[in-house]
Amino acid sequence: MGSVMITVIHDNERENRNMVEFAGIAISQLNFVADRKIVIDITQFDSQNSINRTTVTTLGDLITLPDQFTVRVQKGLPSAVQAVTICHELIHVHQIITGKLSVSAIDGWLWNGEYYSTSSKYDERPWEILAREQERPLLHSVLKEYRS
Ligand SMILES: [Zn+2]
Repeated sequence: MGSVMITVIHDNERENRNMVEFAGIAISQLNFVADRKIVIDITQFDSQNSINRTTVTTLGDLITLPDQFTVRVQKGLPSAVQAVTICHELIHVHQIITGKLSVSAIDGWLWNGEYYSTSSKYDERPWEILAREQERPLLHSVLKEYRS
């Protein structure tokens, strides 16, 4: 490992370095080889832009491009919340890279070959259920290795 290119966009230089290290550990623990660069953007963004998440306070989201994954994390959140959000979104990156989750040609997603429309309930999407189950165990495991 160590070949994954991670860029963090954060206006605090120290936090920026910490997040590069944190995300690098998370990716190595998730044990995937990223086929494109990963950008973690700590920014203020509008939850309206995220499909079907209007009722949920959007902590983060993932933008999948052919040459890049962009993880957006809401600026101004406590760093512990940002850390778990990064874990959550990187779990989705893992789901995409391993082919379990993909964007459907028609609007929506494919999860293990099964189609889910954009109107499917956020809380009932299997990839979200899994990411929520796995985000805290991943966080704790990354923190063990981080700065140890
Ligand atoms: Zn999610």
